[in-house]
Amino acid sequence: MGNERKRVIFCDFDGTITVNDNIVAIIKHFDPPGWEPIVQDVLAQRISVREGVGRMFALLPSSMQAEVVDYGVNNVRIREGFADLLAYCKEQDIEFYVTSGGIDFFVYPVLEQFGIPVNHIYCNGSDFSGDRIEITWPNPCDEHCQNDCGMCKTTIMRRFPATANERLLIGDSVTDFEGAKQADLVFSRAQLTTKCQELDLPHVEFETFHDIIRFLRTERTTVQ
Ligand code: MG
Ligand code: ZN
Repeated sequence: MGNERKRVIFCDFDGTITVNDNIVAIIKHFDPPGWEPIVQDVLAQRISVREGVGRMFALLPSSMQAEVVDYGVNNVRIREGFADLLAYCKEQDIEFYVTSGGIDFFVYPVLEQFGIPVNHIYCNGSDFSGDRIEITWPNPCDEHCQNDCGMCKTTIMRRFPATANERLLIGDSVTDFEGAKQADLVFSRAQLTTKCQELDLPHVEFETFHDIIRFLRTERTTVQ
Protein backbone atom coordinates (compact mmCIF):
# COMPACT_ATOMS: atom_id res chain seq x y z
CA MET A 1 0.00 0.00 0.00
CA GLY A 2 2.96 2.29 -0.69
CA ASN A 3 0.97 4.46 -3.05
CA GLU A 4 -1.94 5.01 -0.68
CA ARG A 5 -2.89 8.64 -0.58
CA LYS A 6 -2.71 10.59 2.64
CA ARG A 7 -6.12 11.50 3.96
CA VAL A 8 -6.58 15.20 4.71
CA ILE A 9 -9.67 16.90 6.11
CA PHE A 10 -10.54 20.54 5.42
CA CYS A 11 -13.21 21.65 7.86
CA ASP A 12 -15.29 24.81 7.76
CA PHE A 13 -15.92 26.73 11.00
CA ASP A 14 -19.10 28.85 10.90
CA GLY A 15 -22.20 26.66 10.77
CA THR A 16 -20.01 23.54 10.73
CA ILE A 17 -17.75 23.36 13.80
CA THR A 18 -20.17 25.82 15.35
CA VAL A 19 -23.92 25.36 15.28
CA ASN A 20 -24.59 28.93 14.12
CA ASP A 21 -23.09 31.11 11.46
CA ASN A 22 -21.17 33.54 13.65
CA ILE A 23 -20.70 36.29 11.10
CA VAL A 24 -24.43 36.50 10.51
CA ALA A 25 -25.11 36.20 14.26
CA ILE A 26 -22.78 39.10 15.09
CA ILE A 27 -24.18 41.36 12.39
CA LYS A 28 -27.75 40.45 13.28
CA HIS A 29 -27.13 41.13 16.96
CA PHE A 30 -25.63 44.61 16.46
CA ASP A 31 -28.03 45.22 13.59
CA PRO A 32 -26.35 48.12 11.77
CA PRO A 33 -28.64 49.58 9.08
CA GLY A 34 -28.07 48.00 5.68
CA TRP A 35 -26.70 44.56 6.57
CA GLU A 36 -29.63 42.48 5.32
CA PRO A 37 -29.33 43.08 1.57
CA ILE A 38 -25.58 42.35 1.82
CA VAL A 39 -26.22 38.92 3.39
CA GLN A 40 -28.84 38.18 0.72
CA ASP A 41 -26.43 39.19 -2.04
CA VAL A 42 -23.71 36.90 -0.67
CA LEU A 43 -26.04 33.91 -0.28
CA ALA A 44 -27.41 34.45 -3.79
CA GLN A 45 -23.80 34.76 -5.04
CA ARG A 46 -24.49 38.20 -6.55
CA ILE A 47 -21.42 39.54 -4.73
CA SER A 48 -18.35 37.67 -3.54
CA VAL A 49 -17.95 36.44 0.03
CA ARG A 50 -14.97 38.75 0.44
CA GLU A 51 -16.91 41.80 -0.66
CA GLY A 52 -19.96 40.94 1.43
CA VAL A 53 -18.12 40.17 4.65
CA GLY A 54 -15.93 43.24 4.24
CA ARG A 55 -18.92 45.49 3.68
CA MET A 56 -20.91 44.05 6.59
CA PHE A 57 -18.17 44.61 9.16
CA ALA A 58 -17.47 48.06 7.76
CA LEU A 59 -20.97 48.94 8.98
CA LEU A 60 -19.68 48.64 12.56
CA PRO A 61 -17.45 51.26 14.22
CA SER A 62 -14.12 50.05 15.63
CA SER A 63 -15.11 51.61 18.95
CA MET A 64 -17.39 48.57 19.38
CA GLN A 65 -14.42 46.17 19.33
CA ALA A 66 -14.85 44.87 22.89
CA GLU A 67 -18.58 44.15 22.50
CA VAL A 68 -18.20 42.62 19.06
CA VAL A 69 -15.34 40.33 20.10
CA ASP A 70 -17.10 39.38 23.29
CA TYR A 71 -20.32 38.53 21.48
CA GLY A 72 -18.42 36.64 18.76
CA VAL A 73 -16.60 34.43 21.26
CA ASN A 74 -19.34 33.87 23.81
CA ASN A 75 -22.29 33.09 21.61
CA VAL A 76 -20.72 30.12 19.95
CA ARG A 77 -22.05 26.62 20.38
CA ILE A 78 -19.82 23.78 19.24
CA ARG A 79 -21.46 21.07 17.17
CA GLU A 80 -21.65 17.71 18.88
CA GLY A 81 -18.75 15.34 18.38
CA PHE A 82 -16.12 17.84 17.30
CA ALA A 83 -13.55 16.86 19.93
CA ASP A 84 -14.20 13.20 19.09
CA LEU A 85 -13.53 13.84 15.41
CA LEU A 86 -10.21 15.46 16.32
CA ALA A 87 -9.31 12.45 18.46
CA TYR A 88 -10.30 10.09 15.63
CA CYS A 89 -8.08 12.01 13.19
CA LYS A 90 -5.16 11.76 15.57
CA GLU A 91 -5.72 8.04 16.03
CA GLN A 92 -5.96 7.45 12.26
CA ASP A 93 -3.15 9.85 11.34
CA ILE A 94 -5.50 12.02 9.31
CA GLU A 95 -4.37 15.60 8.83
CA PHE A 96 -6.98 18.07 10.01
CA TYR A 97 -7.20 21.68 8.87
CA VAL A 98 -9.73 24.32 9.80
CA THR A 99 -10.47 26.32 6.66
CA SER A 100 -12.76 29.10 7.78
CA GLY A 101 -14.30 32.10 6.12
CA GLY A 102 -14.71 33.44 9.68
CA ILE A 103 -12.65 36.08 11.44
CA ASP A 104 -9.58 35.65 13.66
CA PHE A 105 -11.05 37.40 16.69
CA PHE A 106 -13.59 34.63 17.27
CA VAL A 107 -12.10 31.65 15.40
CA TYR A 108 -8.85 31.40 17.42
CA PRO A 109 -10.32 31.93 20.90
CA VAL A 110 -13.14 29.45 20.27
CA LEU A 111 -10.76 26.78 18.96
CA GLU A 112 -8.17 27.27 21.69
CA GLN A 113 -9.61 24.56 23.94
CA PHE A 114 -9.22 21.90 21.21
CA GLY A 115 -5.44 22.04 20.85
CA ILE A 116 -5.37 22.37 17.07
CA PRO A 117 -1.96 23.70 15.98
CA VAL A 118 -2.30 27.34 14.94
CA ASN A 119 -0.71 26.63 11.55
CA HIS A 120 -3.60 24.23 10.87
CA ILE A 121 -6.16 27.02 11.20
CA TYR A 122 -6.88 29.31 8.27
CA CYS A 123 -9.26 32.26 8.60
CA ASN A 124 -9.56 35.96 7.84
CA GLY A 125 -8.05 38.76 9.91
CA SER A 126 -9.39 41.96 11.45
CA ASP A 127 -8.15 45.48 12.00
CA PHE A 128 -9.77 47.73 14.57
CA SER A 129 -7.33 50.64 14.18
CA GLY A 130 -9.46 52.66 11.76
CA ASP A 131 -12.87 54.26 12.11
CA ARG A 132 -14.75 51.13 11.08
CA ILE A 133 -13.98 47.45 11.51
CA GLU A 134 -11.84 46.32 8.62
CA ILE A 135 -11.54 42.67 7.65
CA THR A 136 -8.14 41.64 6.30
CA TRP A 137 -7.43 38.79 3.91
CA PRO A 138 -4.17 36.96 4.62
CA ASN A 139 -5.28 33.89 2.59
CA PRO A 140 -6.47 35.26 -0.78
CA CYS A 141 -7.26 33.39 -4.00
CA ASP A 142 -4.27 32.26 -6.04
CA GLU A 143 -4.11 32.61 -9.84
CA HIS A 144 -6.29 29.50 -10.28
CA CYS A 145 -9.30 30.89 -8.41
CA GLN A 146 -11.42 33.72 -9.80
CA ASN A 147 -14.04 33.49 -7.07
CA ASP A 148 -12.80 36.35 -4.83
CA CYS A 149 -13.26 34.09 -1.81
CA GLY A 150 -11.55 36.20 0.84
CA MET A 151 -10.21 33.11 2.62
CA CYS A 152 -9.63 30.83 -0.37
CA LYS A 153 -10.21 27.17 0.46
CA THR A 154 -9.21 25.97 -3.00
CA THR A 155 -5.86 27.77 -2.76
CA ILE A 156 -5.13 25.88 0.44
CA MET A 157 -6.39 22.59 -0.97
CA ARG A 158 -4.12 22.96 -4.01
CA ARG A 159 -1.14 22.70 -1.65
CA PHE A 160 -2.25 19.08 -1.15
CA PRO A 161 -2.19 17.60 -4.68
CA ALA A 162 -4.87 15.03 -5.41
CA THR A 163 -2.19 12.60 -6.59
CA ALA A 164 -0.78 12.31 -3.07
CA ASN A 165 -3.75 13.31 -0.92
CA GLU A 166 -7.30 12.18 -0.46
CA ARG A 167 -9.08 15.45 0.25
CA LEU A 168 -12.22 15.46 2.35
CA LEU A 169 -14.18 18.65 2.92
CA ILE A 170 -16.65 19.30 5.73
CA GLY A 171 -18.94 22.28 5.38
CA ASP A 172 -22.36 23.84 5.18
CA SER A 173 -22.62 26.84 2.93
CA VAL A 174 -21.44 29.29 0.31
CA THR A 175 -17.82 29.50 1.53
CA ASP A 176 -17.51 25.76 0.81
CA PHE A 177 -18.88 25.65 -2.74
CA GLU A 178 -15.56 26.01 -4.58
CA GLY A 179 -13.63 23.66 -2.30
CA ALA A 180 -16.36 21.05 -2.61
CA LYS A 181 -15.75 20.85 -6.35
CA GLN A 182 -12.16 19.78 -5.70
CA ALA A 183 -12.72 17.38 -2.83
CA ASP A 184 -12.77 13.60 -3.18
CA LEU A 185 -15.69 13.52 -0.77
CA VAL A 186 -17.80 16.20 0.90
CA PHE A 187 -19.54 15.96 4.25
CA SER A 188 -22.34 18.44 3.84
CA ARG A 189 -25.14 20.20 5.63
CA ALA A 190 -27.68 22.83 4.61
CA GLN A 191 -27.01 24.82 1.40
CA LEU A 192 -23.86 22.82 0.70
CA THR A 193 -25.97 19.65 0.41
CA THR A 194 -28.20 21.35 -2.16
CA LYS A 195 -25.14 22.53 -4.08
CA CYS A 196 -23.60 19.04 -4.06
CA GLN A 197 -26.88 17.59 -5.35
CA GLU A 198 -27.05 20.23 -8.09
CA LEU A 199 -23.48 19.60 -9.22
CA ASP A 200 -23.62 15.86 -8.61
CA LEU A 201 -20.63 15.92 -6.26
CA PRO A 202 -19.89 12.91 -4.04
CA HIS A 203 -21.26 13.87 -0.65
CA VAL A 204 -22.50 12.48 2.64
CA GLU A 205 -24.96 14.48 4.71
CA PHE A 206 -24.15 14.96 8.37
CA GLU A 207 -25.71 16.56 11.39
CA THR A 208 -23.13 15.88 14.11
CA PHE A 209 -19.46 14.98 13.85
CA HIS A 210 -20.35 11.54 15.17
CA ASP A 211 -22.09 10.92 11.83
CA ILE A 212 -18.81 11.62 10.08
CA ILE A 213 -16.74 9.43 12.41
CA ARG A 214 -19.22 6.61 11.97
CA PHE A 215 -19.04 6.91 8.19
CA LEU A 216 -15.24 6.98 8.14
CA ARG A 217 -14.93 4.01 10.48
CA THR A 218 -17.34 1.86 8.50
CA GLU A 219 -15.88 2.81 5.16
CA ARG A 220 -12.34 2.13 6.39
CA THR A 221 -13.18 -1.37 7.56
CA THR A 222 -15.01 -2.24 4.33
CA VAL A 223 -12.30 -0.78 2.08
CA GLN A 224 -9.33 -2.41 3.78
MG1 MG B 1 -19.96 27.73 7.04
ZN1 ZN C 1 -10.71 31.56 -4.13
